[in-house]
Amino acid sequence: MSTTYTALPNEIPAIVGADLVTSGSLQVVVTCPHCDARHRHLGLGLRRSPCGRWYLIRSEGGQR
Ligand SMILES: [Zn+2]
Repeated sequence: MSTTYTALPNEIPAIVGADLVTSGSLQVVVTCPHCDARHRHLGLGLRRSPCGRWYLIRSEGGQR
């Protein structure tokens, strides 16, 4: 009897994303702490990975 949770998990890992510029649009590539694969996102901040988990993407150069 499991309920599908839509709430965020208590612990959200913060990871550093690498900027990736592709023909005019900026994307961020991260190494997923959950599945160890690389995922792409369109920006920093709280994101849900394609593998269904959440993480907080920070920029490489520290805080801005
Ligand atoms: Zn993943």
